[in-house]
Amino acid sequence: MSADLRSAAERVARQAYAPHSGFHVGAALRSARGQIYLGCNVENAAYPVSSCAERGAISAAVAAEGKDFKLHAIAVVALNAQGDSLPVTPCGACRQILVEFGADAEAGFSAPDGHWQTVRVGDLLPFRFILPDIGSR
Ligand SMILES: [Zn+2]
Repeated sequence: MSADLRSAAERVARQAYAPHSGFHVGAALRSARGQIYLGCNVENAAYPVSSCAERGAISAAVAAEGKDFKLHAIAVVALNAQGDSLPVTPCGACRQILVEFGADAEAGFSAPDGHWQTVRVGDLLPFRFILPDIGSR
C-alpha cells in the first residue's frame, strides 16, 4: 500500500459531511489503470440514507472507467471532528461492493488496535454473496 493512497484518504476524510456522528471517513482507491479516485462519507438526518466513503470512491471510479473498472488498492481513513485518527474497517455492505471489483485488491485501514493494516479484499468477506446461475428467467 503506497503512502500516497493513505494520505489521499486522510485528505478526503476532512471533506466528509458528518455533522451527526462526527465520524469523518475518507477512501482513496487506485484502479488497475493506475488512476486514483476518492470518496468520503455523506451523512443525513435520516441515518439509513447516509453513504460510505468506500462506495463513494467506487462510484467515482465506475463513472470514470465504466464497466471495465478493476480495483487495485484502497485505503480507508477515519478522523474525529478534531482531526485525530480513529480505527475503521469497511462495513459489511462496502466489503460486498469492494470484492465485486477486486477480490485480490489490497485494502488498508487503521485496525481496532490503531496500527495500519493491509489485507486482501477477498479476505474481508470470505463468504460473500455471489449470484448463482439460476438458469433462464
Ligand atoms: Zn460502508
